[in-house]
Amino acid sequence: MKITVCCGVVGLTDFKKKVLDFEYNGFQNWMIFGIDQGIYSSYKTAKGWKFKKIKYREYPLPIWSQLTKIENNPNSVAPYWIRIKTKLKRGGVWVGFKTKQEMPKNGKLLDSFLTKDSKGNYEFRLIFEIPVQKISMPNILAVDIGDKRLATVCDSLGNKKFLGTEIRKIRTHYLWLRRRLGNKKLLEKVKSVGNKEQRVVNQLLHRVSKEIVTMALKNKCCIVLGDLKGIRQKKYKKLNRIIFKIPYYKLVNYIKYKAEKLGIQVYKIKEYMTSKTCHKCGSTKTKRPSQSLFKCSSCNIEYNADLNAAINIMNRFKDYMSSNRASAYALNSFA
Ligand SMILES: [Zn+2]
Repeated sequence: MKITVCCGVVGLTDFKKKVLDFEYNGFQNWMIFGIDQGIYSSYKTAKGWKFKKIKYREYPLPIWSQLTKIENNPNSVAPYWIRIKTKLKRGGVWVGFKTKQEMPKNGKLLDSFLTKDSKGNYEFRLIFEIPVQKISMPNILAVDIGDKRLATVCDSLGNKKFLGTEIRKIRTHYLWLRRRLGNKKLLEKVKSVGNKEQRVVNQLLHRVSKEIVTMALKNKCCIVLGDLKGIRQKKYKKLNRIIFKIPYYKLVNYIKYKAEKLGIQVYKIKEYMTSKTCHKCGSTKTKRPSQSLFKCSSCNIEYNADLNAAINIMNRFKDYMSSNRASAYALNSFA
């Protein structure tokens, strides 16, 4: 799998800063306006580079991995060094950096980029391919992603957990704040509140995804997620806009990333009707007297609605696995 290691640039001298500014800003001009201010020639060939997957406000300057040399020298200013080719100096300049995450031990460097952080400081993004050994997981952990709780989790051993229940409170709080500020027309303030909200939600997403993966690893489970594709609108049509903004894809990606790093397989299963079907008897003659309560008119059970959906996701995955093992893997695996 591919992982990205974020690195902060350290010990930048005036000349090196000038080089980075020259190539980085020149590259922005080249990418946006097609104007060549004399940047190093190999950077210009990057025009066809697909940036879609990496979202930055500016274009990351690609430092091709062939041109990159990373040295690990404990006695120097920085633990790692990278050579930046430039028109300003023959042979380029060596720029030191520190990693913000752990450097992968057996990773193969695929690409490297020069970017800026939110404060405008230079950083490197190093993209590694790391070998992952898939471990066989005899058990299943199913996740229902929702609005009231970010994730409702159950596994084939009978464990249940509700995670990220704070999401609604966070949403409501920030909506209230934004509205209050909005009336006073403090646009900048509204924007910064929005950014703060995103950070808080992001932290929650990381925490929830970590908890799910930890639970899966501990109980030897593969992870099955309900695939919202196509039914999202329908399912949430009636809900108001505070809760509509479920960061579904972000959470899915975090779970997938954290799980695959540990060799845990992640599958998707169609979520169609999982919230309407009774997990006990399979009947669809069911009612939702409230957002969290589920009632089956056929067998008369009352159940937590999210948990009912999670159990259905797990059962559906079990069915796929027993009826057609191979195609279940092929169709529903992310890999
Ligand atoms: Zn029933």
